[in-house]
Amino acid sequence: MDCIFCSIIAGEIPSTKVWEDDYCYAFRDINPQAKDHVVIVPRAHIESADKIYAGNSVYVSKIFEAIPKIAAALNLENGYRIITNIGEHGCQSVKHLHFHLLGGEQLPEKIV
Ligand code: AMP
Repeated sequence: MDCIFCSIIAGEIPSTKVWEDDYCYAFRDINPQAKDHVVIVPRAHIESADKIYAGNSVYVSKIFEAIPKIAAALNLENGYRIITNIGEHGCQSVKHLHFHLLGGEQLPEKIV
């Protein structure tokens, strides 16, 4: 399967790791939209948040368990934002479920 995030997880494409555990891998975004911009991906290839079901939702819960630890490691005690883009209308460019963690500075106005 030709998936850039699967290749990053496999170490075939270099990345700047900030966290990893049995369920997820987190690395700095190559095109950061905030001082700290981390991409958190499940180790399993799941296309997007639209493809979550009982059989794979453990990856999502484990990612959300990891998020406070990643935020603490980055000293984001003043807050941060988590975003996931889904499909064409959601402007998802990489078809492997991922959560953007943005922080490290005052973020711009929120959409919602
Ligand atoms: P999305 O547009 O929500 O699918 O987000 C995909 C994100 O992956 C973008 O923010 C890209 O900058 C980021 N990205 C793509 N390729 C790489 C890479 N090789 N290393 C780090 N981040 C990447």
